[in-house]
Amino acid sequence: MKFLKSLAQTFANKPIDWDELEESLIHADLGVAITTRIITTLQEREAWSLMGINNVVKIVREEIARILPANSPPITPEPGKPKVILLVGVNGTGKTTSTAKLARYLQQGPVLSASRMDRHTVLLAAADTFRAAEIEQLVLWAKRHGVEMIRGQYNADPAALCYEAYQAAVKRQIDFLLCDTAGRQHTKTNLMAELQKVKRTLGKHDSSAPHETLLVVDATTGGNALSQAREFHSALTLNGLIVTKLDGSGKGGIVVAIQDELAIPTRFVGTGEQLDDFAPFDRDMYIANLV
Ligand code: GDP
Repeated sequence: MKFLKSLAQTFANKPIDWDELEESLIHADLGVAITTRIITTLQEREAWSLMGINNVVKIVREEIARILPANSPPITPEPGKPKVILLVGVNGTGKTTSTAKLARYLQQGPVLSASRMDRHTVLLAAADTFRAAEIEQLVLWAKRHGVEMIRGQYNADPAALCYEAYQAAVKRQIDFLLCDTAGRQHTKTNLMAELQKVKRTLGKHDSSAPHETLLVVDATTGGNALSQAREFHSALTLNGLIVTKLDGSGKGGIVVAIQDELAIPTRFVGTGEQLDDFAPFDRDMYIANLV
């Protein structure tokens, strides 16, 4: 995630080379559109010839800051009913890990009353009913961390499972219902149709549910993450991203590219395999980490 730092180092003692700069920005996954805009701004302001590479890096930071919202909206409970969060994404992006991380994050939220150590309650619905191993992983994890969980039979209908999970969440007065969905089907059309059905079914209980539809993308996959965001967004209307593996990526520009093209904000970031390697997205920290 340190592409600006490497930019400053690469070009420190070099003559101006716009092509190489352009290549570096694209390589950092900022995408062609943003890169072209940044290069044009830099050229118009004669940033490089007048003040050198450090000034170039400063302007790149400013341009990135202009694209990203200053604050990503927090996830707060819905008064009197469960807040439903649907997690979607292709297999391997870190969806199951991120579901567990988000559950723990929400569960560890603020203490709700001074007299009792009440905290938010979370119910997990393991609606990826085709991946037995993943469900077992989540079951073990949920047990260990005292998170309630609902699972179906292997191959059970995910929409029906989420429907039941919602009923259980109401009955148990749960604050957050997290639905982990399938990331793979025989065809992409099937997957999107299945996820749309899950969404519709949840909407039968509460027309505003799911309240959040979050796509999990892997920062190390660059342009693939952008195309996944396009597809899932057009089928499901996303409210945000969870961007994983920022620790393993020297880039991280995908956060900017997806916000710019699709106006989908990054809500959380994953920075490792441990449960604590997870935090709400913070623009200024993100930009500070680029240098
Ligand atoms: P799923 O198939 O999308 O459900 O993916 P998993 O949750 O099973 O994760 C796939 C792999 O990515 C596992 O080895 C995870 O430990 C790893 N992983 C998930 N999130 C992160 C992250 O933020 N950073 C790193 N380095 N690894 C991660």
